[in-house]
Amino acid sequence: MTLIEIINLHKTYGKITALKGISLTVPAGEIFGLLGPNGAGKTTLIRCLCTLTRPDTGDIFVAGISVLEQPRRVRQKLGYVAQELALDKVLTGRELLQLHADIYHLPRDFAQQRIAEMVSLLNLEDWVDRRTGGYSGGMKKRLDLAMGLLHQPQVLVLDEPTVGLDIESRTVVWEFLRRIRAQGTTVFLTSHYLEEIDALADQVAILDQGKLIASDTPGALKAALGGERVTLKVREFTPRDEAERVQKVLQELHFVQNVIINTTQGNSLNLVIAPTPNSLAMIQEKVTSLNLPVFSVMQSQPSLDDVYLAATGRTLQDADLAARGG
Ligand code: ATP
Repeated sequence: MTLIEIINLHKTYGKITALKGISLTVPAGEIFGLLGPNGAGKTTLIRCLCTLTRPDTGDIFVAGISVLEQPRRVRQKLGYVAQELALDKVLTGRELLQLHADIYHLPRDFAQQRIAEMVSLLNLEDWVDRRTGGYSGGMKKRLDLAMGLLHQPQVLVLDEPTVGLDIESRTVVWEFLRRIRAQGTTVFLTSHYLEEIDALADQVAILDQGKLIASDTPGALKAALGGERVTLKVREFTPRDEAERVQKVLQELHFVQNVIINTTQGNSLNLVIAPTPNSLAMIQEKVTSLNLPVFSVMQSQPSLDDVYLAATGRTLQDADLAARGG
């Protein structure tokens, strides 16, 4: 069953076009991941969904209700966990949860029951009665998740939920999202972490420069690519000119379909190859024919990064770097 339907969404900010005609459907009861580098348009899309930004054209329906025509009814169905935390420092966690319950006009008994459930679900017992000014980043995120889910929304929408968190807190967030999915909540999250989407999402949509470049299950997207991947490091950190010389000779091999230089990984080379016996040995021979060493060479199955690479010609990390002006 489709829960969210996004139809031909366009959004511009002055001369910048953030969304260029996005259409998507999100099934109920699943974790839907929106993947893309910085500046791809993920936050803009999420803000349109949460009725915080009005699209120029297009519409979004949540359980059949239009965000443009009935934003208030849509908001009742959504919980939103923003990228930036905006917690008051003086209030305690419990006071903030209560405030949130009041904003949503939750009946008093129901609010108390939900606060108790959220505190237990997110292991907030030791912290909920302390002022949030003393919370760690991970603890603040837990409180933010509790607030997003307090009014029992059908969909929890999260913008980059694990940015800046340590591994332990990230695991807590992932487990929480899996648990609420099991309880029937639909989860819509953005991320620019491939491993996060791979680990969590039932469905993924990949956004690049305001356009949808792929949408399916992570498994189907990877399987559709075909071929095998080889990652080659000439040195641990290879000078650019050496990587370019190697790229040129590797392209001469008949089974090599594509070679790109991965700047963020010390100019390692990413190859797409047709499955061929002795391919790794032939690749190494080519490198040594240039009188260059081979630091490491590794074969693998396609990843979501390869899906992004195939569609855009660059890795997600390189796109992130470029977006940050690197
Ligand atoms: P990030 O991960 O960095 O948040 P994103 O994928 O969420 O990236 P958006 O924040 O939606 O991307 O931004 C898409 C484009 O729209 C970017 O070029 C951004 O600079 C621009 N943009 C976003 N919000 C505004 C705004 N309020 N005014 C002007 N330009 C904006």
